[in-house]
Amino acid sequence: MPDVSATVDTPDGTVEFDHRPTTDQSFENALAKARDGTRLTVDDAVELFTTGTDRDSIDHRRKEQVLEAADRRRAEVVGDEVTFVANLNNNVTTACNTGCLFCNFKDRSEQFRSEYQEDHGGFTKTPSESREIVRDALDRGIYEVCSVSGLHPALALDDEHREILEASDRGDLNYRSPGEYEKDPATYCEQLSAMNVGGVHVHSMTPEEAYHARRGTDWSYEEVFSRLQDAGLDSVPGTAAEILVDEVRDVICPGKIRTDEWLEAMEAAASVGLDMTSTMMYGHVENERHRALHLQRIRDLQDRTGAITEFVPLSFVHEETPLYERGMVESGATVDEDELLIAVSRLFLDNVDHIQSSWVKYGDTQGLKMLTCGADDFMGTILSEEITKRAGGDYGEFRSFQEYADMITAIGRTPVERSTDYEQRRVIDSDADVLGPQLGPRADGTPLIE
Ligand code: SF4
Repeated sequence: MPDVSATVDTPDGTVEFDHRPTTDQSFENALAKARDGTRLTVDDAVELFTTGTDRDSIDHRRKEQVLEAADRRRAEVVGDEVTFVANLNNNVTTACNTGCLFCNFKDRSEQFRSEYQEDHGGFTKTPSESREIVRDALDRGIYEVCSVSGLHPALALDDEHREILEASDRGDLNYRSPGEYEKDPATYCEQLSAMNVGGVHVHSMTPEEAYHARRGTDWSYEEVFSRLQDAGLDSVPGTAAEILVDEVRDVICPGKIRTDEWLEAMEAAASVGLDMTSTMMYGHVENERHRALHLQRIRDLQDRTGAITEFVPLSFVHEETPLYERGMVESGATVDEDELLIAVSRLFLDNVDHIQSSWVKYGDTQGLKMLTCGADDFMGTILSEEITKRAGGDYGEFRSFQEYADMITAIGRTPVERSTDYEQRRVIDSDADVLGPQLGPRADGTPLIE
């Protein structure tokens, strides 16, 4: 069997996982259940992920059967539409001490302190800077601002939280006063209310950020999310999920909250009326049973809340990560694994309507292929501050409506602009002369970038 890791070598020795990808189920039975829409078990998912635990490697004929079943299910659930959203990424800071071994985004927060003189390449934005960036993008036609940041030690939920943190003599709270840093990120509530301009949809505050926003208090997650909602939060990204199995988290992100706490935070967000997305970051040290258990936890969460709008598989990018540099992984997932991950997610998550293909992770060609493996959403434009500043220059990761329309119609599907919650949809007329967003509060159909 390929890519099956029951152990992982770490600098501190070999870790042996309790969860193994073995089952008493057969591939044929699992496939039959998938085809007729019977709710799948974790063992079924392991059989589908591995194309049969009776095989030593991926069986390509069986893989095609799984992909076909998923594509058929996608057509039954959501039809031929391929959706995407006009959105902006505005991350507040790259300062973080959490030390996740798969992350190359964070910059150690010590480097952001006033006394540190060398250039560190990271950034922190003040609320007024965030507001200006969002306002500019709103004029260009975005519907949503997505904001996910490092856990900067000076970030507090609000003024009351800051007072508690300032008064505490606990040394384990990952807190320092804003005055110690070259730039003050202010509070989460101030940042959110700054970004909450002109009716834009504010998508922010992962469970990990919500944990940071209540550290040192006995406030419930409901309390935290209520305050964030009052400040302008509209929905929550279900990132920081990685793999929701603690024996994997212990290896790749020991500084992060545990599975139960992640689920508790998400349930709390749903209970105060916030929609949320869900994710899985796979293709590092985990095996197929971990992936299946993760899907089960997401499906159970959705049974309890009904608040999950989409599931977003995130294929691990190994370059420049500590996991790779320390020799704990040699690469990320294979293309076969990526395709099976999308397909099995579609088949297993019978209560989540939308599965996303991330063109940032998979690239354009493979990203489009994923739309025939069970996915129906093609992410967002992810305009960024740098792009709006350099309009007409290097677009970086930005994707225009014209490109979306061309790519989606080329595979015989219907391009559709959507709102974050998928409630508003607009079929794109790919024959129109100029293609731009129309759902954002200030969108008028002109392209985001001329
Ligand atoms: S918490 Fe987020 S930003 Fe910080 S190290 Fe982990 S993944 Fe990176």
